[in-house]
Amino acid sequence: MSGQKKVALISGANKGIGFETARQLGQIGIVVLLGSRDPAKGEQAAEKLRSEGIDARAVKLDVVAADDVAAVAESIEREFGKLDILINNAGVMLDSGDMMSNNVATVTTEELRTTFDTNFFAVVAITQALLPLIRKSEAGRIVNVSSILGSNTLHGSPNSPIYNAKLFAYDASKTALNSFTVHLAHALRDTKIKVNSAHPGWVKTEMGTDAATMEIVDGAKTEVDLATLSEDGPNGSYIHLGKTLPW
Ligand code: NAP
Repeated sequence: MSGQKKVALISGANKGIGFETARQLGQIGIVVLLGSRDPAKGEQAAEKLRSEGIDARAVKLDVVAADDVAAVAESIEREFGKLDILINNAGVMLDSGDMMSNNVATVTTEELRTTFDTNFFAVVAITQALLPLIRKSEAGRIVNVSSILGSNTLHGSPNSPIYNAKLFAYDASKTALNSFTVHLAHALRDTKIKVNSAHPGWVKTEMGTDAATMEIVDGAKTEVDLATLSEDGPNGSYIHLGKTLPW
């Protein structure tokens, strides 16, 4: 056991927003478990954070692999006996086509299935597997990394900034993820656990591209805020940099 230090698991933490989120949580003394589907990349990322004085450990976690999920739950149970923070950050954008062209009439079932496997089904499975350990935390926090592109309200509003930005598989997978947030937050409303959806912003990562408007250091802020919410913080909300987004 590692004393009373808080422990966080971040999926997809070998790069991008997940890596920076792990760094910022590590900087405030939280033990960070960096989920990575490629163990070598995970180890390299954890080593980088350790060189900055952070207690970072790599865990092999391909979010769509049931064996990895079971092994991660078992090792967290063995080593820490609880999990304080789960950040479901790993995500994919697999739609072919241009974001401004709206691919809903041509998107394939395969694109939909593979996108939902990572962005939705895996999140439900991982969260269910880890929930018994999160219940053992004094203040469990679950952050589902969604996107503003999951907002049906904004997609349906001609004046919204995303009205013409439509990639159906990605968008629908994040809408489904938001539904998971709402349902799980309701189920856990009488516990100390809080569950929220985060929109990081449009961030300069491999997914966000260099055209994005936000630096990674700022793109991690919403995840970090929701991971460290105080007792009176929101539950079942959809947040970007402290502001609530419409579902
Ligand atoms: P990124 O740089 O492409 O990183 C994505 C991370 O997810 C990588 O570590 C990747 O691992 C991992 N991943 C993908 N599939 C996985 C799987 N099956 N198992 C484990 N890990 C897997 O993207 P990002 O911009 O940091 O995105 C992080 C999250 O923010 C995503 O959920 C994304 O949808 C969301 N988001 C991003 C933006 C943006 O502008 N960047 C905006 C809104 C929401 P590999 O390195 O092995 O591929």
